[in-house]
Amino acid sequence: MAKRWIYSDASITTAGTMVCTACRKPITEGAFRYRQNDAGFLTQHKACSLDDLEWKQIEKRQQEYAAHNERRKTALRAYIGEFGAPDDYLIAECMADAVGTGKQP
Ligand SMILES: [Zn+2]
Repeated sequence: MAKRWIYSDASITTAGTMVCTACRKPITEGAFRYRQNDAGFLTQHKACSLDDLEWKQIEKRQQEYAAHNERRKTALRAYIGEFGAPDDYLIAECMADAVGTGKQP
């Protein structure tokens, strides 16, 4: 039995009755957390569990990923602007070069 909270979003996960144990309202959208106990699943809106510091860690990781993705898009737009879209052969050759460098995506 998982005793620790699991964090997800109502658009991709459901757990138990999807009724928040804090505010007693249905969880129909957005971030929520859940865990299982002997009685079933406990579910809580993110907004009803903001004292859980893991939400801050999740937000930090999401922001870091978004920033990383923006840097990748900026670099790719610059490449395409100068050379056009890379063909499959060029991508495969560069991917092969990256193997072992730890820099493959
Ligand atoms: Zn709630």
